[in-house]
Amino acid sequence: MQTPTLPATKDVVLIGGGHAHALVLRSWGLKPLAGARVTVINPGPTAPYSGMLPGFVAGHYDLAALDIDLVQLARFAGARVILGRATGIDRENKQITVPGQPPIAFDVASVDVGITSDMPLLSGFRDHAVPAKPLGPFAAKWDAFRAGDGPAHVAVIGGGVAGAELILAMAYSLRERGRLGTTTLIDSAAALTAIPEAAARIVRNQLSALGVSLIENAKITRVWPHSITLTDGREVQSDFTTGAAGARPYGWLQETGLALSDGFVDVNAMLQSSDPHIFATGDCAHLTQSPRPKAGVYAVRQAPILYHNLRAMITGDRLKPYKAQKDYLKLISLGGKSALGEKFGTPFSGPQIWRWKNHIDQSFMAQFRDLIPQDPPKLPAEYTEDLPNALANNTVSGSCKTKLDHTSPAQHLPCQTRCADIEHLQGDSAAMVDVQGKRQVVVTDHMTMLTLDPILNTRIAASHALGRIWATGAQPKTATVTVTLPPMTPSLQSRTLQEVMTVAAEVFEQAGAQIITGHSAAGQELALGFTVTGDLQGPASTLAGAQPGDALILTKALGTGVLWAAERQAKANGGDLADAIAQMLRPLGPSAQILSKAHAMTHVGSLGLLGHLQALCAASNCGAQITTHHIPVLPGVASLLDAGLRAPLDCANRTGFASDRTAPDVLFDPQTCGGLLAAVAPDYIDAVIDALDAQDEPAAVIGQITNKTGDIQIIA
Ligand SMILES: Cc1cc2nc3c(=O)[nH]c(=O)nc-3n(C[C@H](O)[C@H](O)[C@H](O)COP(=O)(O)OP(=O)(O)OC[C@H]3O[C@@H](n4cnc5c(N)ncnc54)[C@H](O)[C@@H]3O)c2cc1C
Repeated sequence: MQTPTLPATKDVVLIGGGHAHALVLRSWGLKPLAGARVTVINPGPTAPYSGMLPGFVAGHYDLAALDIDLVQLARFAGARVILGRATGIDRENKQITVPGQPPIAFDVASVDVGITSDMPLLSGFRDHAVPAKPLGPFAAKWDAFRAGDGPAHVAVIGGGVAGAELILAMAYSLRERGRLGTTTLIDSAAALTAIPEAAARIVRNQLSALGVSLIENAKITRVWPHSITLTDGREVQSDFTTGAAGARPYGWLQETGLALSDGFVDVNAMLQSSDPHIFATGDCAHLTQSPRPKAGVYAVRQAPILYHNLRAMITGDRLKPYKAQKDYLKLISLGGKSALGEKFGTPFSGPQIWRWKNHIDQSFMAQFRDLIPQDPPKLPAEYTEDLPNALANNTVSGSCKTKLDHTSPAQHLPCQTRCADIEHLQGDSAAMVDVQGKRQVVVTDHMTMLTLDPILNTRIAASHALGRIWATGAQPKTATVTVTLPPMTPSLQSRTLQEVMTVAAEVFEQAGAQIITGHSAAGQELALGFTVTGDLQGPASTLAGAQPGDALILTKALGTGVLWAAERQAKANGGDLADAIAQMLRPLGPSAQILSKAHAMTHVGSLGLLGHLQALCAASNCGAQITTHHIPVLPGVASLLDAGLRAPLDCANRTGFASDRTAPDVLFDPQTCGGLLAAVAPDYIDAVIDALDAQDEPAAVIGQITNKTGDIQIIA
């Protein structure tokens, strides 16, 4: 008997990719829970680790060293990632609000969104300063600032440990770059009161050693682009002002109806809020039974308890209490590669403490690297002789182990046109139908999951199908949807369908089209099919018609195939994937309209650039010459290809091309939501490129059409 896929029955939603949730995801990946569907919501694809932030600011680490890649981590955990910022929790309907997304339903949720050091009441702060928290945007802005030229003046508002660490790191970094102007640490009261006097003395000595001016008991009137005005009239020079004064909870938590203390979510010893189905952890939580200061170390220690309790809520197990430690080892960077340690009032400092801290921090980060997602299916005792190769081709792409041909299911199926009023659009797997003198284009597309998120999959599948309509020059009009749902309870089915249908309707409406009907069926994995019609006003753009001398234009960068193949193996960089998604979801309508006078046009899809170019040349009876360094490639793609990763269809796309050919691998990479490839008359090309630029539609001229029929020349 074959084992059936186990149905999903409960939704666990993690709001925020803070330290505790990152560790929960890791533990979940090591020990998945059958029946649970996990989601993590975070504004960006990465979450920085605070322990290494001062080292990054000082220049000891690059940004990648302190970024936890939530996309890789979520794939490892079998969780979906929603890139967005939660703004509310509808407790009655058990839904989370994320602008731009349909409501995200949960059975059990946890909040780990950290805090902000924004100072909305301080005049000029919002416009001219950068809060230290959230850490991600702060790190990116500091990176850009320090790369500038000339003497730089910086100031930190807030003389706590974090503020002191930051100004020391900034001073060190600017000094190393020969850019040190003035550095100032400002506190409205006495600085460094949270650590014992002996430790504070070491920090103060280091501040003066690095030339930092410490201004205490000073109130600020206003922050300006290049200075700060104090209430006593003093002006502090600062081109980069940051705020590390205190912890402000996010305002939206007020609207959740959860019990709060000073805006922080009250939690009991089990880390449960006043709503037992909602947990909170890290800086955004207030431990009612044993309040503690805001420090990453508590978020980290809460993680195993949170992990256990989230699972216990849906397995019926007993919840465990979190016992907060009284004190913790504080390790404070002193700018250069020297640090101060303090516990129970005893300070110790020097380069060896920095090395120790560095070891602790690197070990923490190492937990999130080189994650291997769940094992590929194990082979039974007996199997067909070519099964291992087929499995390798479907899961761990690399060299072409099995030669698939162009009849593989993701390719276009041959269709016979039998009626005079139906024209098969050659090579485009689209048909043109004449309905009482009005011409309509019909395309159909079916896709299995690229990501674990049905919402994103819907956007991608709908955008891909629409791209094929636009490539013919038609205006999308109607769509039908088929959804294959994997095993899950009726309640999760209806949640998933609601997500899919809400998003599909939104994408088609934005394209000026309507979903007219749909159908769902049960299967092993989520799959989406869209059949889309579009009205043609003029002649259809097709593969045929390119003429020698035409310029070849490509409107999107290549590499989506290998990026998603890498994502399946938790090897794609989250930031690169986020860039790719943004490109994939850019509608092709505006560029198709600008390219409407192209002699020939196609949508770059599963055949890869070379396959589609070959089809265009065959249909137009011509050849082409392309220059590889003019071909745009998505960030991160080159290194994945160099590492030997390939999309499953890559092998099939090489069939028919001479094996001695030195075409770069990216030309065979199958594209989802790829760009338009158009052959444009030379005297028209400047106008087209200007029009595309004006619409903010990046495009590249990658080569030209030649009269050498069937010959594609590739120039480096
Ligand atoms: C300069 C500096 C140095 C520090 N050094 C140390 C140290 O050495 N040791 C230590 O223990 N502590 C340190 N801290 C404190 C530490 O940063 C925090 O205590 C720790 O980051 C708290 O972790 P967290 O899990 O609460 O959330 P965070 O790490 O703050 O992460 C919250 C996550 O939630 C995301 N998020 C925010 N809003 C939303 C939303 N609405 N929806 C979805 N996601 C959202 C954020 O983008 C972020 O990814 C330092 C702080 C600073 C500023």
